[in-house]
Amino acid sequence: MTTQTLTKTQWVYAFGGGGADGDASMKNLLGGKGANLAEMSSLGLPVPPGFTITTECCTHYYSNGNTYPADLDGQVAAGLARVEELTGKRFGDASNPLLVSVRSGARASMPGMMDTVLNLGLNDQTVDGLAKLSGDRRFAFDSYRRFIQMYSNVVLGLDHHMFEEILDEHKERLDVTIDTALSAEDWERVVADYKKAVEADLGKPFPQDPQAQLWGAISAVFASWMNDRAKFYRRMHDIPESWGTAVNVQSMVFGNMGETSATGVAFTRNPSTGENRLYGEFLINAQGEDVVAGIRTPQALTKAAREEMGDKAPSMEEALPAVFTQFKTVVETLEKHYRDMQDIEFTVEQGRLYMLQTRNGKRTAKAALKIAVDLANDGVISQEEAVMRVEPASLDQLLHPTIDPSSERDVIAKGLPASPGAATGQVVFTAEEAERLGSAGEAVILVRDETSPEDIRGMDAARGILTARGGMTSHAAVVARGMGRPCVSGAGEILIDEKAREFRVRGRAFKAGDIITIDGSNGEVLSGAVKMIEPELSGDFAALMAWADKTRRLKVRANAETPLDARTARQFGAEGIGLCRTEHMFFDEDRIAAVREMILADDERGRRAALAKILPMQRADFVQLFTIMEGLPVTIRLLDPPLHEFLPHTEEDVKAVAEATGLDAAKLWRRARELHETNPMLGHRGCRLGVSYPEIYEMQVRAIFEAACEIAASGKAAPIPEIMHPLVAKGEEMRFLRQLTDRTAKEVLAEKNMQIEYMVGTMVELPRAAIRAGDLAEHAEFFSFGTNDLTQTTFGISRDDSGRFLNAYIDKGIFEKDPFVSLDQDGVGDLIRIAAERGRAQRPDVKLGICGEHGGDPASIEFCERVGLDYVSCSPYRVPIARLAAAQAAIGEREKDR
Ligand code: PEP
Ligand code: MG
Repeated sequence: MTTQTLTKTQWVYAFGGGGADGDASMKNLLGGKGANLAEMSSLGLPVPPGFTITTECCTHYYSNGNTYPADLDGQVAAGLARVEELTGKRFGDASNPLLVSVRSGARASMPGMMDTVLNLGLNDQTVDGLAKLSGDRRFAFDSYRRFIQMYSNVVLGLDHHMFEEILDEHKERLDVTIDTALSAEDWERVVADYKKAVEADLGKPFPQDPQAQLWGAISAVFASWMNDRAKFYRRMHDIPESWGTAVNVQSMVFGNMGETSATGVAFTRNPSTGENRLYGEFLINAQGEDVVAGIRTPQALTKAAREEMGDKAPSMEEALPAVFTQFKTVVETLEKHYRDMQDIEFTVEQGRLYMLQTRNGKRTAKAALKIAVDLANDGVISQEEAVMRVEPASLDQLLHPTIDPSSERDVIAKGLPASPGAATGQVVFTAEEAERLGSAGEAVILVRDETSPEDIRGMDAARGILTARGGMTSHAAVVARGMGRPCVSGAGEILIDEKAREFRVRGRAFKAGDIITIDGSNGEVLSGAVKMIEPELSGDFAALMAWADKTRRLKVRANAETPLDARTARQFGAEGIGLCRTEHMFFDEDRIAAVREMILADDERGRRAALAKILPMQRADFVQLFTIMEGLPVTIRLLDPPLHEFLPHTEEDVKAVAEATGLDAAKLWRRARELHETNPMLGHRGCRLGVSYPEIYEMQVRAIFEAACEIAASGKAAPIPEIMHPLVAKGEEMRFLRQLTDRTAKEVLAEKNMQIEYMVGTMVELPRAAIRAGDLAEHAEFFSFGTNDLTQTTFGISRDDSGRFLNAYIDKGIFEKDPFVSLDQDGVGDLIRIAAERGRAQRPDVKLGICGEHGGDPASIEFCERVGLDYVSCSPYRVPIARLAAAQAAIGEREKDR
């Protein structure tokens, strides 16, 4: 005796006939389809009776060498008997046969991934019964041949082409082209040939015993859980294998029993726009698969929709008015009951309506937003529920142009979806060309091996950026996201020949001037121009954002340094700047010469002289930022990258710079070589620059305070600068930097005779900084987790080169997701947790934020909520996503406490 029989596990759950064993809450056990069939039955809706074999049975099947629990047989027999009683038909009865469908149904919908068998129970005897019952012999034999084909394919593993060939031969012989031209006798002959073909192939006849058919189909559905398609789909959608699928056995109803029969699909609202109107299509005298197969053109459900589309064929409202009225009531009942837009399948059998499926309908981001806001405004759901209904990442679709899904895509390469949105333009290979053509109003796509800070203006002038190298936190990715430019990075198949002004990929060549399109939302690179959909922000967007803001605890700031970024950030609702990377300001055309002069200086005096030229420009930068931010906090990070990034790298560049600036070419070249480092990411960068050359940081701090005083003196809202030191590892470093900052601030404030509130803090982007956070907090008033570098230094994986090999790790399941995109919560996340704990132990009110790219990733934001950070900071275009994700995270945390 097995344990199952001892504990009397219920493997089979009945539904139909106005009641059910299960309900909609039992999706894990009954699968989505089974749970909803049960729920619809209990609501008293017309559901053809049937039963669901549980997902637990599937799990049992796989963990017991593909065998069933001992008592399953009995439970299936009882389930079938109940269906017979409710329908008044008998399974296998030659004069009054019950026919069933057998379908899969997992917890999560996996459209088309697993198997289905219809018309099961037909054999040489019952087909006559069906002919008599329906009064339509042609229909009976058409059903029988469909069943033989489907069953042979799904259960017996025979190739469906074999059947298509036989049917084609018959059509040729009869000189007809469409199936409907075949008579009852024709179908009988087709059936006979089908059976012969099966017997020839298998060496035994097509199974005639309905019980054997039933168990064959049940096994096939369970087996389809492990087919390649299903496995692939599960991997793509993070569906665990252990969930298993349920099997639904349900009495058949026929939409193909004449002109008062029909089958169709409906959405209670428009799934692409969200408009609150019944939407869908149906076919008269057809079975479910005919609607999907696209052989006949389906008709509209409502008269209004038919008129709008200019269709001639009558709508369901006109062709079957009585059933339509009933259907409309059912549909309204379903939406009210589920409190969400429903995706419905139905069949009409000789004037009688049957509901075959309902589920929450899939929808576009635009529709999701509208439906959630409409439902909340109508009082069907609460505002918090509306907030939970929209996928934060999907907002990207609303903020950027996207490729029209109906357009054809000639994909030439695939890289990383580094910055969302799509862009079309002519290929250019240098930042200068991008700038030249871009400022002349041409649409260009900048194509580079990788970008560097020098390319910034060209990137700004381009519509989109494509790089052959670099990961999700590479320069191109980070900067493009900040600018809201679409970007595909790390498209490794692309071979760029800058000299020949062309790139080659998969045997094709694209020259400068050729038109390409990049899709930064999925990483595709396409040849030519493609139709785009422009974003439009509706009032619903503002409404949902306002509800999210009411709900969230985490503050949301933006990473921004240019006035444009800062303005965009505020438009999208940022509550301050969480990271102003000052090095980006050093690359501006009007100051790069002074920056280079500073780097080339032989001593401190020379450096100070050059820095004095930069000071007024830096001050002007901060005045602009503070003005735009109107008193909101602004975190300014002092210089971070290694100095060599500011120098030209090739002999040609050196020559050009020397000519343009009057700087000595030989000296430039020598200094560039001197500054060369084997491992620049771990080299002379971050606060190490401030330790070696305090005058650089002093100039920056001075610029910040002079700017703050200027703003305050002009009567505008005084800014609260937060001065942030990068790449700090030790308490002692922080002590030095704190003293430098306070000393300089004091000097300026004394000169101006003013008081400005400010904070001094550090980035936490090295494991040592996290572990020794207590030491840092002695001197730092805030921490901002720089999770780009923290991920890089924790894994020891270069953020700029990871694109080359991370995919293999993801494919092999070693990494679930790119850790530069979604925070590695176990490892890097643990360091954050430790740092937060130790920092707070030393300084209870230490302010905590995150400013790595993860600050705009919904799953990482949820983690930040759990650890209790004060704010997240992300690129301006992600601010709305972060606001929504923060609200969802807060709701999630609250629900946990309940
Ligand atoms: C970081 O390292 O996470 C960070 C925000 O700094 P950057 O990306 O500029 O190195
Ligand atoms: Mg960093």
